[in-house]
Amino acid sequence: MKILVLKGDGIGPEIVAAAETVVKAANKRFNLGLELDTAEVGLESLKSQGTTFPDSTVARMKESDGIILGPLDTAIYPPPEQGGTNASGGTRKALDLFANIRPSRVRPGCPAHVKKMDVVIVRENTEGFYADRNMYMGRGEFMPTPDMAISMRKVTREGCMRIAKAACELAKTRSGKLTMVHKGNVMKMSDGLFAECVNAVASDYKLDVDEYFIDAMTALIVRKPDFFDVIVTTNMYGDILSDLAAELSGGLGLGPSVNAGANHCVAQAAHGSAPDIAGKNIANPTAMILSCAMLFDWLGNRHGRPELQEAAKRIDAVIEAQLADQDGRTPDLGGPLGTDAFGAAVAKKLAG
Ligand code: NAD
Repeated sequence: MKILVLKGDGIGPEIVAAAETVVKAANKRFNLGLELDTAEVGLESLKSQGTTFPDSTVARMKESDGIILGPLDTAIYPPPEQGGTNASGGTRKALDLFANIRPSRVRPGCPAHVKKMDVVIVRENTEGFYADRNMYMGRGEFMPTPDMAISMRKVTREGCMRIAKAACELAKTRSGKLTMVHKGNVMKMSDGLFAECVNAVASDYKLDVDEYFIDAMTALIVRKPDFFDVIVTTNMYGDILSDLAAELSGGLGLGPSVNAGANHCVAQAAHGSAPDIAGKNIANPTAMILSCAMLFDWLGNRHGRPELQEAAKRIDAVIEAQLADQDGRTPDLGGPLGTDAFGAAVAKKLAG
């Protein structure tokens, strides 16, 4: 099975290296038969190939079984005409990765802002407000005059139906509770369509379904963090809500995710490239490592390979034990370990 590794920008090379150490240990321990290869993306490929998202990298992604992608410092990229494509959005569009799955869980013994939380945010990933990926051609954002900017938000029935199905399937395997989040009181057509589709899909499942407006939801998830389980929402709301959930459960360094479609899956931490701490060996690689575990789970499910799912569970358990020990944490969680030492400690526990 081929796994393509792309380091990304900022803390990307550090957290991806730590995750790779863990992936290699899991590969050996569980006999997974994974072959790891690398390709360039982001600022690295901008320098060497004049683009942050080379066609050759996209071709390699399409040939791979799974992809590990570090965060990208898209805010400092030059305009697309000068090679600065958002490779994160580009990957989601090129591989049709419509479901961004972002879990946030409070880990026993690990500091968090709330006592109990175990939610999974299922975020639509290919349309909504995201101007660089919500159009077939061109961008969903433009300036008719220097003093006027217009953004277009796209919500389709197909997009809503497939994300609703992904969320219902997930809810079925958990507590059976599904919360849909939107702003249908104001965005009556676009979010109205989203709510209509989620209700239609959910009616085929035996689920306990409720719904909240996104503004109220940001308050409720702080007030009653243990009330929610699977949350399904559109692209921008999901992006914002998942950072809030990750922070409540301990910090952005703990929030993993996969971007999944029918044929491809990309492991990518929910957080960004954290340029403020890049190069200091202090970033928390937990989110990146857990994203790889989620990728293993997806691959195991898709290819009927239970050993991949077993490896995913074991990585999660080892991370939980590692985070429970104050001396086993990175500085963002009050611990002494560097990014590399954290990866090495997790890999060692996994091998043992
Ligand atoms: P960010 O998520 O990079 O950082 C926000 C804060 O969280 C910072 O204080 C940072 O130090 C901290 N943080 C993030 N990850 C951490 C980790 N693993 N360990 C410890 N602390 C961590 O958000 P930002 O600063 O708004 O964005 C920085 C860049 O990342 C921007 O260019 C943005 O466009 C990009 N971005 C990329 C992605 C992606 O590639 N998926 C996602 C979000 C933002």
